[in-house]
Amino acid sequence: MGLHRLPAADPLRSRGRRHAEADAPTRNPFQRDRDRVIHSTAFRRLVYKTQVFLNHEGDLFRTRLTHSLEVAQLGRSIARALGLNEDLVEAVSLAHDLGHTPFGHAGQDALAECMAQASEQLPASAVLASDIMGWGFEHNLQSLRVVDALEERYPAFDGLNLCFETREGILKHCSRAAAERIEALEPGGVAQRFLAGGSPTLEAQLCNLADQIAYNAHDVDDGVRSGLLTLEQVAQVDVVGHFQREALRQHPRLVGRRLLFETIRLMLSEQVYDVIRTTAQRVHEAGVGSVDEVRAAGALVGFSEPMREQTKALKRFLFQALYRHPQVMDTTDRARRVVCELFTAYTADPQAMPPEYAQRPDLARATADYIAGMTDRFAIREHQRLTGERVFA
Ligand code: MG
Repeated sequence: MGLHRLPAADPLRSRGRRHAEADAPTRNPFQRDRDRVIHSTAFRRLVYKTQVFLNHEGDLFRTRLTHSLEVAQLGRSIARALGLNEDLVEAVSLAHDLGHTPFGHAGQDALAECMAQASEQLPASAVLASDIMGWGFEHNLQSLRVVDALEERYPAFDGLNLCFETREGILKHCSRAAAERIEALEPGGVAQRFLAGGSPTLEAQLCNLADQIAYNAHDVDDGVRSGLLTLEQVAQVDVVGHFQREALRQHPRLVGRRLLFETIRLMLSEQVYDVIRTTAQRVHEAGVGSVDEVRAAGALVGFSEPMREQTKALKRFLFQALYRHPQVMDTTDRARRVVCELFTAYTADPQAMPPEYAQRPDLARATADYIAGMTDRFAIREHQRLTGERVFA
């Protein structure tokens, strides 16, 4: 496409790590971050965590792990075409969902409710004054806590001690209250842009968009695979219908699964090319030539206006037809019950948790951390052990 070179994040000019470390002999700091994420415990747990469908509902549905790999693939592919730093994109993509609870968004919402309720029942000390989530829970902030504090792998520090740019990409959204708490702990750090305005690197912006491209596409696939959506139903969404007609124009006898795959493949390709074209043009028009100028500018990575509108319509469809499908909602209700009853059981009897959680002074946050780290199946087993009840058949 004859693109200008865009201002990519440079690993040799990173804003650095929170704890000073010697450079690695063969890998740059962003490559090292990616490797640290892959070797983390939280990363391995993603394979047993829900994306939309519970892990045990079927072997072929996306899990948090395969979702994260698809985000990394899309992100790298776009990054390479734009001349952005692929290693940073890969590190952020693979880490972006490390803070997800079991059972996906249902688990997160349940934990947030539990924390809010606990604020009225537990002593104030059950959450530290420096806690970045206060009496709340949010998966994106938890992803940051996983890489900053919760992983226990290195002799000299807690967490993975990732570069500023990787951490900044992980913290893709943040409430003002949370940003103020993070800023107090780390002045001028990863939360500053949520208070002072400004943007993260193009690589971080790209990961955020690649996440949306990935889940819109794979949720159509998983939705049809599950039988909760039909091919005819998804084809009524403009963008899907458009690429289905294109698939049939190229291959008139295509039906069933292959038609769906070809439709999604064409849609993904066009979305990727759209982002590449639009982003290159916007960066060029904005006259942005350095990472500092990227940080001072508004969002630059994105879809063209027509593609943005079409993608929004697809997202709305998925929300109504899939995420709010009675069968998904039934699972959501059960998941909520498992998480809330686990939270109640552990806060009533902290010794039911492993000692490293039971012994923490901040009981509410320790409990939330313990539950958030669980895989779907571990949470279900643990709930049954503590309550004697089976919420999932
Ligand atoms: Mg994601």
